[in-house]
Amino acid sequence: MLFGVTTLMAQGDMAIPVDPDVRIGKLDNGLTYYIRHNAWPEQRAEFYIAQRVGSIQEDDSQRGLAHFLEHMAFNGSKHFKGNELLRWCESIGVKFGTDLNAYTSIDQTVYNISNVPTTREGIIDSCLLILYDWADGLTLEQEEIEKERGVIHEEWRLRTSAQMRMLERDLPKLYPGSKYGHRMPIGLMEIIDNFERPFLQAYYEKWYRPDNQAIIVVGDINVDQTEEKIKTLFSPISLPENAAQVTVEPVPDNNEPIVVVDKDKEQSYNVVNVFMKHESYPDEFKSNVAYMAADYLKDASLSMLNDRLREFAEKPECPFLQASAGDGNYLLSRTVEAFSVGVLPKDGQAEAAVTAALVEARRAAAYGFTATEYGRFKANYLSSLDKVYSNKDKRFNRQFVNQYVQHFLNKEPIPSIDYSYEVMKQLVPMLPLEQVNMLMRGMVSESDTNLVVLNFNNEKDDAAYPTEESLLKAIADARAAQIEAYVDNVKDEPLMTTLPKKGKIKKEKKDDRFGYTELTLSNGMKVVLKQTDLKKDQVLLRGYGFGGSALYGDEELPNLRMFGDVIEASGLGNFSHTELEKALAGKIAGASLSMDAYREYVNGSSTPKDVETMLQLVYLLFTNINKDQKSYDNLMQVMEIQLKNRLLQPENVFSDSLTLTLGKHHPRVKPFELDDLKKVSYDRILEIAKERTANAAAYTFDIIGNFDEATIRPLIEQYLGSLPGKKKVEKSKKIDTDFKGKVINSFKHKAETPKAIAVMVWYTQQVPFTSENNIKATMAGQILAMEYLKKIREDASAAYTVGASCSMNVDDFDQSTTIYVSCPMKPEKADVALQIMRDEVEAMTKGCDPDKLAKVKEYMLKNHADQLKQNNYWRSVIDLWRYKGVDLHKDYETIVNAQTPESIADFVKEVLKGGNNAEVIMMPAE
Ligand SMILES: [Zn+2]
Repeated sequence: MLFGVTTLMAQGDMAIPVDPDVRIGKLDNGLTYYIRHNAWPEQRAEFYIAQRVGSIQEDDSQRGLAHFLEHMAFNGSKHFKGNELLRWCESIGVKFGTDLNAYTSIDQTVYNISNVPTTREGIIDSCLLILYDWADGLTLEQEEIEKERGVIHEEWRLRTSAQMRMLERDLPKLYPGSKYGHRMPIGLMEIIDNFERPFLQAYYEKWYRPDNQAIIVVGDINVDQTEEKIKTLFSPISLPENAAQVTVEPVPDNNEPIVVVDKDKEQSYNVVNVFMKHESYPDEFKSNVAYMAADYLKDASLSMLNDRLREFAEKPECPFLQASAGDGNYLLSRTVEAFSVGVLPKDGQAEAAVTAALVEARRAAAYGFTATEYGRFKANYLSSLDKVYSNKDKRFNRQFVNQYVQHFLNKEPIPSIDYSYEVMKQLVPMLPLEQVNMLMRGMVSESDTNLVVLNFNNEKDDAAYPTEESLLKAIADARAAQIEAYVDNVKDEPLMTTLPKKGKIKKEKKDDRFGYTELTLSNGMKVVLKQTDLKKDQVLLRGYGFGGSALYGDEELPNLRMFGDVIEASGLGNFSHTELEKALAGKIAGASLSMDAYREYVNGSSTPKDVETMLQLVYLLFTNINKDQKSYDNLMQVMEIQLKNRLLQPENVFSDSLTLTLGKHHPRVKPFELDDLKKVSYDRILEIAKERTANAAAYTFDIIGNFDEATIRPLIEQYLGSLPGKKKVEKSKKIDTDFKGKVINSFKHKAETPKAIAVMVWYTQQVPFTSENNIKATMAGQILAMEYLKKIREDASAAYTVGASCSMNVDDFDQSTTIYVSCPMKPEKADVALQIMRDEVEAMTKGCDPDKLAKVKEYMLKNHADQLKQNNYWRSVIDLWRYKGVDLHKDYETIVNAQTPESIADFVKEVLKGGNNAEVIMMPAE
């Protein structure tokens, strides 16, 4: 099927040229490098090393070592003893887990140092040195190995869920006769807990070799100099003679269908996936333009099929709640791909759901798509292409790096953005619908060869599960079904047929502090306009009105909880939900309505070109939400499945308990349950929406981004100025759901994999909300996080991850400062972890490590400089300034630099003075 396109495009010289702006080279020892200069943002760079090895290279006695080795890269190397690497990165404002990270998958291991400030040449040198150590200088010390065993064991515990348990035990059946059946990167805990050091050393030396590695540096750096440095540093690494080759691990064909039915007590819903395996696109052909065409055709067919599946899911007779089609790697393996259809069936209808979803796929294969469907896809595709291209000068380093990683590992082409834009602009009109349909026919196989069915179920007493026979019969039924062509129902009319009577801009005021203009419209609404070109393809809109859910009684809670989702599932104007999606083809614009305790919100975004559409959507949200019963019914059924068994997952048991404790069991914080769902009324929600949008004068809209001021003003008068407004603005009502004093909630819970989790909270309402206090809060949280990482993870091996933050909040009635610490712990070491969590907060009242404070300053100043490039940052700063008269932007750097260990300690003391402290702890039950 893929080669149909290949031959179509194969005439002439159609090789995709590599972007001339990236310097690619290969050293004599086989190491590849990619270097690119990019100055958005200025003085930042990414340093990556990609390795063409992963867990598939392990043998049976090494399961888990590829991933273990990745962890050891942060625990001692030639130039960075112990955890010095982490400490040095912290000193330049690069945080472990956020900017300093790595991942191991089945066939690749990638390490990164990101958002590096390239303010000093020495920083670039040191980052290259880290890459060098990762490539060839890990020391793998015994003591560090011992500590890391516990960390990885806890990573395994954290990641173990019903799905993971089932997938892991089913892999051998899904990959008969293949190593893929036994190579989940996390490995076997008995090996992790017991292997001897030489084992790891041997794996490292065998596979971490220059010919399997690529160094990638992108950012505000000098390309020539960086290339010289790479050559000097990495050339001495030698390639061992007779080095073992990375070979392609095949996935054997299966002549008979493979059907796996599994169940787990913590699996909260049932799901079926059908895979039709096919060969993957050959790496050696990916450099041809035909590949870009094939990719586009695949996109087109899957996107149109998924639209149909979504539309069908809303029909009452449809046996699935959701279904989606895809085409890509078959589970873990890149060497074989699969067309797949996944379904979330209605209760007891697994087989019927499989049949129905496959019938849709076969309908598309048999009759193809319609011209109107393809027209919409093309319009959407070309709009997205234009959007991305318009922002080409402001692409982030990460976007380039990801492409180069894919080029090295998977031979993905890396043309310049100008080239791919021009080529796709020309190709799209040349690729007729018949080509898409041909591809679709190739994807949907009629054969049992290479057919795989995977079904996960919620295990419970007296449940009936699908069987191998019943699932195969479901597929046979789909193949035998009489199929008719799809009819595309489209409403051929504009979003709004008549325009409302325009309002007027009555007043305007220029703000010097932030350079925005405040408009007052004739209906009383305020509009704050700030033009930026931080992102060339973005206009953001946010409206907020006063009132919120606090104005409604507790008996309305079910409606208030579902408010945003139900509005989202509804249509607008003359369009149902599905019709609206079709009507918006080619437009990149959206708007939604939601509510919290004291406010209602309108959130929107668009490209500069589609600002009018976005404003029309806002107008319709205020005046004409279209009741779409079918879409609503589908939403409620999906919610039912989500709620019914959610407490089977131990993490949900914990989070519900936490919410109730922190919210002192107030009805407003009670977790949403199945019974509540039955009390939801669609009509009442629509009424509430009308009430919340009845008065434009209660609203302020911020519009920020790359709009044209002269164009947007009349549009604002047309669509926002025309909304009804009243003089009197409703006032909200305070609802107090904050716990007071000392609260401890410690309980046991039995889970399939024993889990222990703790959250500790300290808060006060006595600290005034100021820019300086807000900065102190952030600092205190970050210092705490560093202490915990060191003491709980690195020293005690009592957890894989531990989070800490301190933040300030301000709303209509209150201000609060909250320290929040959370830690999924090793059950056997829970006491140690809990004690450290408590002690470190207490210790902070007496002082903090000046070295850590200095690191936090580096991070915050760097992060702040990056924030200045985001529209969202300016929006929230302006918002707070207008709302509370607090300017978070002014003197930021000065205030950060002025902080001392004493000022932070005093601040934490103030927070603890509040006397409000909660501990919620879940331990495993026998
Ligand atoms: Zn890991």
